[in-house]
Amino acid sequence: MEDFLEEMPQRVRVSIEGREVSIRAWRYEVIGIEGSRVQVYFLDTDLPENSEWDRAITHYLYGNDAHYRLCQETILGIGGVRMLRALGYESIERFHMNEGHASLLTLELMDEETKKSGRSSITQEDISAVKGKCVFTTHTPVQAGHDQFPMDLVNRVLGRKEIYDNKEVFCHEGTLNMTFLALNLSHYINGVAKRHGEISRHMFAGYTIEAITNGVHAATWASDPFSRLFDYYVPGWRKDNFSLRYSLSIPKDEIWKAHVLAKQKLIQYVNSETNAGLDIDVLTIGFARRAASYKRADLIFRDIERLKQISAKVGLIQMVFAGKAHPQDHEGKELIKRIFETKKALRQEVKIAYLEHYGISLANTIISGADLWLNTPQSPLEALGTSGMKAALNGVPSLSVLDGWWIEGCIEGVTGWAIGGRGESPGDPAKDAASLYDKLEKIIVPMFYHGRDAYTEVMRHAIALNGSFFNTHRMMEQYVLNAYFR
Ligand SMILES: *Cc1c(COP(=O)(O)O)cnc(C)c1O
Repeated sequence: MEDFLEEMPQRVRVSIEGREVSIRAWRYEVIGIEGSRVQVYFLDTDLPENSEWDRAITHYLYGNDAHYRLCQETILGIGGVRMLRALGYESIERFHMNEGHASLLTLELMDEETKKSGRSSITQEDISAVKGKCVFTTHTPVQAGHDQFPMDLVNRVLGRKEIYDNKEVFCHEGTLNMTFLALNLSHYINGVAKRHGEISRHMFAGYTIEAITNGVHAATWASDPFSRLFDYYVPGWRKDNFSLRYSLSIPKDEIWKAHVLAKQKLIQYVNSETNAGLDIDVLTIGFARRAASYKRADLIFRDIERLKQISAKVGLIQMVFAGKAHPQDHEGKELIKRIFETKKALRQEVKIAYLEHYGISLANTIISGADLWLNTPQSPLEALGTSGMKAALNGVPSLSVLDGWWIEGCIEGVTGWAIGGRGESPGDPAKDAASLYDKLEKIIVPMFYHGRDAYTEVMRHAIALNGSFFNTHRMMEQYVLNAYFR
């Protein structure tokens, strides 16, 4: 840890089940492309003065049961605010809660307000003051993604009577629901894509919910060959991502050459790590993301005969997969098993590689090296789907279900292709699979092999229209203008 992070000398304490748990922070500095620095603090309870159990509260990211999570969220929310104060951040104007995990920070801010005015109980004024400071972004339409804790557990861990005294703020249907807590105490609420905003308005009726579509960090996600290409044709693209729009003037053969370099890196990596024997000239479909079952990584195998036919008669297809399942997600693990079985069944007819060690660096290699980026989530469960944005920055078009960002990013045949139609009754796997095969058979595979110029034009538009927009510059501007300064 010391190799990456700097330990801060400050210590703060938070009461958990009546024990005073001590917390420290480790600092990581994110250094921007022009040298500006942003501090990130990681909280840690692994200190000798804490009990064995308390020392492990910050050990596991996807830890254990509701009790363990509530303890973690107490450290994050309450301990987080206390640590910021101890570090000298006295006058923070906005707290941005990403997902409900940090929602308990509202309780600490409320305490600060009541203390400031010398009262002992929370008033409407305190609630308004806290609301004025908080911004909340909800991230998932999947119900299980929204933490809620039974009140007897809350009572045991936090033992705070304020929570009972202000039930209308803290409780939802008899539980402490971290999403509703943040909803109740934020003056600006948003989803992470237009469609996700709409879905969140249905999920949380009665709240005003806006949408700010997420983006990816262009300088991080453009592969080396494309970074060099942009440096030459679109100088300044790193600090002004909007200028990627001018990629429209990059000659198509230059785009293809940069892509071939990225593809070579992928194919070499796959062939050195596996015995898949992939071929640089074959249309390579990429699919890499968490192996969550709603993402339906195996949808393309719904009709194996049809897939084989397309590969044999229209043009060869090969595939690269990667992605780990959540340790407790049995369905996700089964999904990976099914892909391995299909891989065996397809043998040489459609070559498939499933790569291990999926992480940011491997994601970069797969996303930039594929010819086509596939995404087949069960609509409307994909709030966003960032990997398609990373692909667009590298000129890799998406073939995706119209869900998450793709509803905004897809211009059919211009930036990529849609699976299924706009606003159709969503999620029928048979229909989605049929549409996927149709697009491959009739449009994409023929274009890749016999219309390279047209295919490269789609690649160029993926960069110019989507790379220039679905990035963190545009996203941050929208947060600053619409959320933080509101
Ligand atoms: C981008 C990325 C993701 C998220 O991909 P989605 O398309 O949003 O599912 C997950 N893991 C890694 C390592 C990534 O780089």
